[in-house]
Amino acid sequence: MAATNFPTLVREKSRDPNAVFISGDDGRNFTYQQYWDLSGRLANTLAAHGVGAGDRVALQAEKSIEALALFLACARMGAMFLPLNTAYTPREVEYFIGDAEPCVFICEAEKTRFLSMLCKTILTLDDKGGGTLIEDAPATFKDADTAWNDPVAILYTSGTTGKSKGAVLTHGNLASNALALVDAWAFTPRDVLVHALPIYHTHGLFTATNTVMLSGGRLLFRHKFDVNDVVSLLPDATTLMGVPTFYTRLLAHEGLTRDHVRHMRLFISGSAPLLAETHQRFEAKTGHAILERYGMTETSMNTSNPYHGVRRAGTVGMPLPGIEVRLADPVEGIGMIEVRGPNVFQSYWRNPEKTAAEFRCDGFFITGDLGSFDGQGYLTISGRGKDLVITGGFNVYPKEIETELDLLPGVIESAVIGVPHVDLGECVVAVIVAKNSAPEEHSMIAGLQLRLAKFKVPKRIITVAELPRNAMGKVQKNLLRQTYASLFKPQRPV
Ligand code: AMP
Repeated sequence: MAATNFPTLVREKSRDPNAVFISGDDGRNFTYQQYWDLSGRLANTLAAHGVGAGDRVALQAEKSIEALALFLACARMGAMFLPLNTAYTPREVEYFIGDAEPCVFICEAEKTRFLSMLCKTILTLDDKGGGTLIEDAPATFKDADTAWNDPVAILYTSGTTGKSKGAVLTHGNLASNALALVDAWAFTPRDVLVHALPIYHTHGLFTATNTVMLSGGRLLFRHKFDVNDVVSLLPDATTLMGVPTFYTRLLAHEGLTRDHVRHMRLFISGSAPLLAETHQRFEAKTGHAILERYGMTETSMNTSNPYHGVRRAGTVGMPLPGIEVRLADPVEGIGMIEVRGPNVFQSYWRNPEKTAAEFRCDGFFITGDLGSFDGQGYLTISGRGKDLVITGGFNVYPKEIETELDLLPGVIESAVIGVPHVDLGECVVAVIVAKNSAPEEHSMIAGLQLRLAKFKVPKRIITVAELPRNAMGKVQKNLLRQTYASLFKPQRPV
């Protein structure tokens, strides 16, 4: 029978129920059948606590196999899974509970006291998969009758400006994207993927997990990314999905040699820009060209470098089959990236105004990212639209300046921001991480003046020990803007 929702697709695709789907770092293995049974037990427990179709089930807990299986449990119940970043403070969690009104909240035991004031039903889950959620419930569960367009998850965007919004994703969104990725990245039942990403974010929760689940492969499931651990696992794996930081850390590890990863099939990077230099160094060291792709919470994956064909450093490749990507109002080839396809989320949770504002009349979603296509159809991201610097009326795309800065001797990485300026409106400032051998600020500025139009050259280049990043490795430019907001404010005489 043809699949009618995400769980039925999982059943259809996992043809060998006795194949191992997930191997934990605690030594536990779950076959596809055992994982399905685990999701059935969780669904029965949730149902006993009153969860029904359309209800939200919130989770804020350390990564565990049970935490991951909660998504499949919710999908089978027709409920909506709502994972929350483990770093959120109780005050922040209060906002999500108020907004999403979950029927059940699952967290570690120490958080229950505060949360029980906010949500009626609290269940516990620890990082070893123990807690009140894990009852001795039956494995057999009668799945709800859900359809492709029914919601299955709410993922809150990271919300660097204003309150974060809940992106409502449907069974069809996740299924279509996972199927496209299995195909595009040639996943098969022989694949073994090192899974060291968090599961409160789309990358670890959906991209890595669903691609493997629908191909019949296996996950080597780790609590967190530990470079020694990952290096030691690579001989047993075929693929790795990671954020750029994984790759810079791997490059710095002496165990990463060409021989060590000779048998690997694919290294994939996303969630934040991979420096072209990292791509090139990784290829020189290992013989593998990292495959970079581009996606976001609201859309899952949009574009990918090719599996067969040239993987271009600094680009995020071409639109995946069935997904349309266009640039709105391009200026010198750079425009706002807009996306349409079965992957694009349904709406922002209980926020019709915001939903309407982010979609064009013809159904394209406005991503907020700026980009350009080259002659061969490869997309390059120039940065978030809100990170664009407008100085004296000229547009400056941070990526262009960052690329030049990264080429300067001694510069390890850089972030370019706009800082308020009385004359220019905003002025370009660079924040860099550099080796001691890096030239002085004025020499760097002089060097850039030879390569860039005057308005693009940073007025200041500030060296810091490290750039502020979130858990997915994204540089938090909003924090840098706050830190340097007064850099050009005239000093009041005292
Ligand atoms: P999130 O919703 O947390 O997954 O963040 C999505 C955002 O991450 C996108 O809108 C992009 O700004 C950024 N992003 C994701 N992948 C890439 C990539 N390969 N290169 C550059 N930026 C990326």
